[in-house]
Amino acid sequence: MSVGTESTAVDVRIMTRAELALRGVSLDAPVRRPDGAGPSDDGHFVIGHGPADGAGAALPRNPDSPYSVRDGRVWLGEEDGTLTDTGLTLTPVLRPKFYDLTTADGVSYERIARLHGKDVLATTVVQTCIRYAESDRCRFCTIEESLRADATIAAKTPAQLAEVAEAAVRLDGIQQMVMTTGTTTGPDRGARVLVRSVRAVLAAVPGLPIQVQCEPPGDLAWIRALHDAGATAIGIHVESLDDEVRRRWMPGKSTVPMAEYEAAWDEAVRVFGPNRVSTYLLVGLGENPDELIAGAGSLIERGVYPFVVPFRPMSGTLAARDGIPAPGAELLRYVTEGVAAKLRAAGMTGADQGAGCAACGACSVLRSAGG
Ligand code: SF4
Repeated sequence: MSVGTESTAVDVRIMTRAELALRGVSLDAPVRRPDGAGPSDDGHFVIGHGPADGAGAALPRNPDSPYSVRDGRVWLGEEDGTLTDTGLTLTPVLRPKFYDLTTADGVSYERIARLHGKDVLATTVVQTCIRYAESDRCRFCTIEESLRADATIAAKTPAQLAEVAEAAVRLDGIQQMVMTTGTTTGPDRGARVLVRSVRAVLAAVPGLPIQVQCEPPGDLAWIRALHDAGATAIGIHVESLDDEVRRRWMPGKSTVPMAEYEAAWDEAVRVFGPNRVSTYLLVGLGENPDELIAGAGSLIERGVYPFVVPFRPMSGTLAARDGIPAPGAELLRYVTEGVAAKLRAAGMTGADQGAGCAACGACSVLRSAGG
């Protein structure tokens, strides 16, 4: 096979994965994450090229998608009704056993933490955010919607998290945990509750890789405290490096200047080590794609993994209310390939984060592109 043919095959694969991330699949999956923090409200699947290989994939379930699943394979429906085999396999992640348990004080485990991808336990420790007033709120965020829908509780105690993590590891083979939080009042911006939560979970499940996610704490000593509590990795999520985009999409969060993000990333790399720090970059907020790729390159040079994810207008977001569409698959492919090439050149992989969204990879196309 010539190099040209190989790269064409790779391009087609990345394009298909990008299309799936944006258009989803028509299928009834038994596991679906409802509203929450972050860019995903998808069904969780294992995607691969055969039964033996498979990575987690968070994909929208969309009855109108041209992609459907039959006998575990993904088919693309053409307008004339013919079906083309994409060569991809897709298996829904089944409802985990720990969802059926309840704490001694009567809270369903499912409302405390949820299964993400194929083996990640994810929780939003504080499900409220000081920036959730409509004038301040990030326009892609639904952190308080799951609270309104009574799908979760506002604050998870360290004891509850420890209890659920122990069961999820024992019953469902969870490999790592992601702890995020809405921004709290006070200069730690949420880091304080994460420190307590990490300590409690690790006391119950020693050695479980945990990623914490928070805004840059006003006092950078919190980054050391999170590491000393035992966190493996940290996500400090900026979502866009373009100040104009930040102001438009994140009126509250953009009041934290980029310089604070840069200082927090640098301190986190110093404390956690290179490629143990990550940030989300959303594709489709209106930024220049080449500037986005170049900005991701600067993050990589700093030791920060840029987790590139498509913006999608989830129900309950201000963006969906305002009719803002998801980006096109070609834009997502272009940015993903550009960033993946820089990651490969730097020898940086999401898996090496050890824990967190980049290690899971389900919400991004980066892994298919070799990042
Ligand atoms: S990438 Fe992050 S948000 Fe997406 S499924 Fe994995 S852990 Fe959850």
